[in-house]
Amino acid sequence: MELTVVGCGYVGLVTAACFADLGNRVIGVDVDAVRVQALKKGRIPIYEPGLEEIVRRNIKDGRLTFQTSLADAVRASRIIFIAVGTPPAADGDVDLTAVRMVAAEIGKSLNGDKIIVNKSTVPVGMADAVGDMAQKSARGKKHKVRVVSNPEFLREGTAVTDFMHPDRVVVGSSDKRAAEAVADLYRPLDAHVIVTDVRSAEMIKYASNAFLATKISFINEIASLCEKLGADVAAVANGMGKDKRIGREFLYAGVGFGGSCLPKDVAALRRAVEKAGLTPRLLAAVLEVNESQRRSVVEKLSDGLGKLAGKTVAVLGLAFKPSTDDLREAVSQTVLPQLIRAGAKVRAYDPAANEGSKRNHPQAVYCKSALDAAKGAHAAVVLTEWNEFVELDLVKLRGVMAGQKPVLVDGRNVYDPDKAKAAGFTYRGVGRG
Ligand code: NAD
Repeated sequence: MELTVVGCGYVGLVTAACFADLGNRVIGVDVDAVRVQALKKGRIPIYEPGLEEIVRRNIKDGRLTFQTSLADAVRASRIIFIAVGTPPAADGDVDLTAVRMVAAEIGKSLNGDKIIVNKSTVPVGMADAVGDMAQKSARGKKHKVRVVSNPEFLREGTAVTDFMHPDRVVVGSSDKRAAEAVADLYRPLDAHVIVTDVRSAEMIKYASNAFLATKISFINEIASLCEKLGADVAAVANGMGKDKRIGREFLYAGVGFGGSCLPKDVAALRRAVEKAGLTPRLLAAVLEVNESQRRSVVEKLSDGLGKLAGKTVAVLGLAFKPSTDDLREAVSQTVLPQLIRAGAKVRAYDPAANEGSKRNHPQAVYCKSALDAAKGAHAAVVLTEWNEFVELDLVKLRGVMAGQKPVLVDGRNVYDPDKAKAAGFTYRGVGRG
């Protein structure tokens, strides 16, 4: 099958590469000419384990190509996936500029009937709007455009595995044949394909992300109470998680959720509730709890250090989660400027995201390793649970730091509090007594 995937970012590139690996001929299209040039040479612009190998293999075998011309790609394909970014707009709504541009361009380039697949996360009703936009810009051409919603649930860091072994594939359309054509693409995966009407498919994506965010904010609120009452939230979450109705996943207390999806998708859903004339009580609370968790990082550092001015703080972990270089809505990106404004000297390290963070916050010193970052620091704070931080030798870490009893803010609860204290730290986890 000839496919086009528009947008070669975290989702589009994985989609293009994996569908090519499943035997389709795929054209990846992106407006970013530099990105396309690099991709043509098999160099991927993001950190995503396992992806580069698949991209290279499929370029070599002639199934995967990249280009900037959407018009040519549309003419060569029957199915066109839209996987461009849908960033947050200032009012919490979704910025749909890129999706609209692509829809209009597809319409202009029609040379036959096409199926447009919305893989970008877009508000309920957008599939209908994309169809209208494409049809309108087709200016009287007789070709038919059918739109399918096929939201993506992959996680950065495990994107390839998630794509190839999905918990479910959601396909929504008002056109049965279009839905079947898209479902067929996933047949080699032996996946559980859920076919729904188009608006339910769009809602499934938002509702799923909002539910995951709710679990995180719920356990974070419990964590705050545990801190006051002397309970350990990790033990509480274990005890809760054994109940199959609850489950352990996403019940990890920490410094809050970030990334390109949860914050923006919950905000967009809250906005959708408001626009529908309803009151988003729960969603507003989920975001509010998350904000207070993010603020707690600097509060805990100030508690431990007193004045931050003149103190050196090692920030371990910048990406919003391990195994990615993605800094969108990462906690680090609000903590770094707060610390710098307060007069602290920041020494930061992330295995994959140093470069990106340096562009955003050049005032911090970027280091080669956790131990390097901790050199001479009065406090260390772990914001991302990369394995190399989880496995750090705390005695060694303590050894390179300054002061009698440096502060360790364990923003992801990765250390045993007793071991951290025994290593000589003033330890502050999240929700631990
Ligand atoms: P991204 O920013 O990594 O990639 C978007 C790509 O689209 C960029 O390469 C950009 O240059 C390109 N682009 C923008 N406008 C374009 C245009 N007019 N024509 C062609 N290319 C264009 O974004 P992403 O993280 O891959 O997210 C894409 C969509 O998938 C979003 O709606 C997001 O919410 C959703 N999503 C993301 C994830 C994730 O983990 N990142 C998971 C599930 C769903």
